[in-house]
Amino acid sequence: MFPLPTYPTAPVLTRTDLPLNLPYHQRVNLIKGWGFTCNCRFCTDAESRAASDRRRDGIDGILHGVKHPQNVSREKIHLAVAKLEEIVEEEGLSAQLGDLLYLVADACLAARDLKLAREIGEKALKAQKHYAGVDNERSYEVMRLLELVDTIEQASGE
Ligand SMILES: [Zn+2]
Repeated sequence: MFPLPTYPTAPVLTRTDLPLNLPYHQRVNLIKGWGFTCNCRFCTDAESRAASDRRRDGIDGILHGVKHPQNVSREKIHLAVAKLEEIVEEEGLSAQLGDLLYLVADACLAARDLKLAREIGEKALKAQKHYAGVDNERSYEVMRLLELVDTIEQASGE
């Protein structure tokens, strides 16, 4: 019998450590803390930077808006999703789309719109499988949400 090898535990970056939708000044302070600088157009050109900040603020606004149950309707959620898709595309944040859609699906679930929660959840899962991988905590998280939707639906006999 050999003892199992032990590995030093490396700090794992999670979404909470990496808020990619930060506006410029916060982003710069964050990467400075790691000794990084960035020369991308969003960080250097003033006009692109301002437009980028508006879009990233847009992400926060959308996520905040959908948390209120009165904003959870088919029309508003579809608009929010289309806007998020547009912003992540423009900002080169497509890998984060699944995380954002997960939050929207979660808000739909909280508002007990199960049909919408499933629809957006399935969209989120597709994005997570593509960007994070099938065998990944970020995909599992969405799968758990979809299972919860099923469970609630069955319990309510729909
Ligand atoms: Zn940059």
